[in-house]
Amino acid sequence: MSSLSPIQIPSRLPLLLTHEGVLLPGSTMRTSVDSARNLQLVRSRLLKGTSLQSTILGVIPNTPDPASDAQDLPPLHRIGTAALAVQVVGSNWPKPHYTLLITGLCRFQIVQVIKEKPYPVAKVEQLDWLEEFHNTCKTREELGELSEQFYKYAVQILDAVSLEERFKMTIPLLVRQIEGLKLLQKTRKHKQDDDKRVIAIRPIRRITHIPGTLEDEDEDEDNDDIVMLEKKIRTSSMPDQAHKVCVKEIKRLKKMPQSMPEYALTRNYLELMVELPWNKSTTDRLDIRAARILLDNDHYAMEKLKKRVLEYLAVRQLKNNLKGPILCFVGPPGVGKTSVGRSVAKTLGREFHRIALGGVCDQSDIRGHRRTYVGSMPGRIINGLKTVGVNNPVFLLDEVDKLGKSLQGDPAAALLEVLDPEQNHNFTDHYLNVAFDLSQVLFIATANTTATIPPALLDRMEIIQVPGYTQEEKIEIAHRHLIPKQLEQHGLTPQQIQIPQVTTLDIITRYTREAGVRSLDRKLGAICRAVAVKVAEGQHREARLDRPDVAEGEGYREHIVRDTKPESINDTTDLALPPEMPILIDFHALKDILGPPMYEMEVSERLSQPGVAIGLAWTPLGGEIMFVEASRMDGEGQLTLTGQLGDVMKESAHLAISWLRSNAKKYHLTNASGSFDLLENTDIHLHFPAGAVTKDGPSAGVTIATCLASLFSGRLVCSDVAMTGEITLRGLVLPVGGIKDKVLAAHRAGLKRVIIPQRNEKDLEEIPGNVRQDLSFVTATCLDEVLNAAFDGGFTVSTRPGLLNSKL
Ligand code: ADP
Repeated sequence: MSSLSPIQIPSRLPLLLTHEGVLLPGSTMRTSVDSARNLQLVRSRLLKGTSLQSTILGVIPNTPDPASDAQDLPPLHRIGTAALAVQVVGSNWPKPHYTLLITGLCRFQIVQVIKEKPYPVAKVEQLDWLEEFHNTCKTREELGELSEQFYKYAVQILDAVSLEERFKMTIPLLVRQIEGLKLLQKTRKHKQDDDKRVIAIRPIRRITHIPGTLEDEDEDEDNDDIVMLEKKIRTSSMPDQAHKVCVKEIKRLKKMPQSMPEYALTRNYLELMVELPWNKSTTDRLDIRAARILLDNDHYAMEKLKKRVLEYLAVRQLKNNLKGPILCFVGPPGVGKTSVGRSVAKTLGREFHRIALGGVCDQSDIRGHRRTYVGSMPGRIINGLKTVGVNNPVFLLDEVDKLGKSLQGDPAAALLEVLDPEQNHNFTDHYLNVAFDLSQVLFIATANTTATIPPALLDRMEIIQVPGYTQEEKIEIAHRHLIPKQLEQHGLTPQQIQIPQVTTLDIITRYTREAGVRSLDRKLGAICRAVAVKVAEGQHREARLDRPDVAEGEGYREHIVRDTKPESINDTTDLALPPEMPILIDFHALKDILGPPMYEMEVSERLSQPGVAIGLAWTPLGGEIMFVEASRMDGEGQLTLTGQLGDVMKESAHLAISWLRSNAKKYHLTNASGSFDLLENTDIHLHFPAGAVTKDGPSAGVTIATCLASLFSGRLVCSDVAMTGEITLRGLVLPVGGIKDKVLAAHRAGLKRVIIPQRNEKDLEEIPGNVRQDLSFVTATCLDEVLNAAFDGGFTVSTRPGLLNSKL
């Protein structure tokens, strides 16, 4: 029993009506005071009162009744708890408000309400004594804190004045509480046990477990996995060094609690180690004749590339090793570089994997992150090996010219190690941290240009140029390869869709402008998609037309023509045609599906005034025609250049102007005021349209000179002439690169005459016969000859250039 002495409460008590819970004897609660009645009570009894007696209140639980008038005293609960106000906290702003801390002393019963206003006071009878309940104090406290749903229950306990009754009421609650606690304890224990098991079982297993035995397979699933992993490590054919590392790591793993972040890290590492194809390879089957057939079947044209690839494979077959330069296919996008790489893998019966290097600027992309880093992982080489599952795949290192550089190390250096036959049998990925033999991997690289390939890397590679295609080649590629592939992908048959060659040519010339066939392929894909919808709709319609209850002719007209005969391409026919007729794609259908043509011949329009000439440029994306525009205005002899030009290009512009100035008299060129000093009181502005593309290189020299000659002579450059060539200050024309791509671009643009440097004449042999037939070539050694060929009727009366016909 408690040592507290019994307390006697006054016979009259001011009543505090609370609606925030039930205060039980021995418990403490906070209650806020905001009703007028309670405020009055606090003010007059607590804030003014000085004796202990005045701080004893009768606390009556009260459920506020919204219907009752706040002025009237609500019906009072008969039994309450006498309480000591321990603390009053309050403020007067924004409105009077107090919070009371009260401790329940004992029960009382209202005998009579003596006064109601300003706060109720009642005559009371004390029902129990504080000490009697001290032992159950804690429980009560909890009960007092029970939320609203237990309010009723708590009041009943308050009402249970007889001890026996009170215990009857509280015991079920306590029992419930105990059950709850037990349950909680049980869940906690379970979790701790789990954790302990992870920590405790492992060491025991270590002692009792004989590696390789599966005796304790009834352990939890995770342990099974570890056993499996261990078994895989034992049976793996990895080299000794790797094996040792794995054994060490699995020992560590077994000691580690699962919750440790390192656990997952180590496990992933081990899983990768056992998965890697340390000794797994495919058997090469190399038959040069079969390889030739396969390459020819898969690819139209590209003779030079196919020839070089076959040579490479033949040497490999004879020498039976891979040491030697890495092949690097260099050419514009969509010319089949990746595709040939894939064919090489196919001819050898090897797995193929493409590693995109574009934008890689961190060497850990190649060589992996050390395992100490969070989220560390192996580099692309090791990842690729894991993906293909053999150690002798063909790896296509795509876009080596787009490798970046950053503070995280130079990826090109890492790549060098990968490609070096002297080093790559010992390639160490940072994540793996043991050497992997890459010597059986066949690497092929691709790039758009050699200019940006790091020199050390370029040194290791044998460059094979893959030029862009002519229109005719593109048509052949489309009809032999692209269209059949697209039809298959879209579930169409030639009985359902026909694309005549004229349409393909339209797509090539009016909807694409590229050296390769990638856009062409995409456009064909778009056509197939559109036709697939029509075919599916048609089938649906046919099914419906079979039913007499469905009305015919629901306004369904299609622009896609159904006919088998190309001569009726322009007919727009209704669905009255038999359903088995293929959908024929003519220009109307093309416009319908692809929208209006994106590229129309604009050349002659742009050349309709003096000061414009067409140059030929080489870009990593293939050859392109390039307009050069010039205008002059009053000024002080300034030269303005716009269009994102590089330094070499700017120099060419200065050279061209200087040459023209020094030859002004010879050609009768004058400025606006008739002076032979072309820059006197004159500014010149040279612009190279398509300003978003950076242009550089010396080959625009002849074009700039021609353009300026046109500007100062007021004569128009022939609208079907394009030119390329570097110039010197003395007016000589020097050879340039990329002739084939440039000539193809001129041909694509529908131009007829191409002026090239004399010393590039030999390059014309590479140009396909049909292109050569369509074009006439002028070879020039000096600017005189260029100008004579560029203007109708020649530029000077003297030296007329010999028009070379294309029978070279
Ligand atoms: P690249 O790697 O040069 O960018 P891709 O190999 O991805 O080009 O070629 C793009 C598409 O064009 C592929 O579907 C490829 O099969 C096709 N293709 C390109 N050139 C030819 C060709 N000469 N013969 C057949 N298909 C070709």
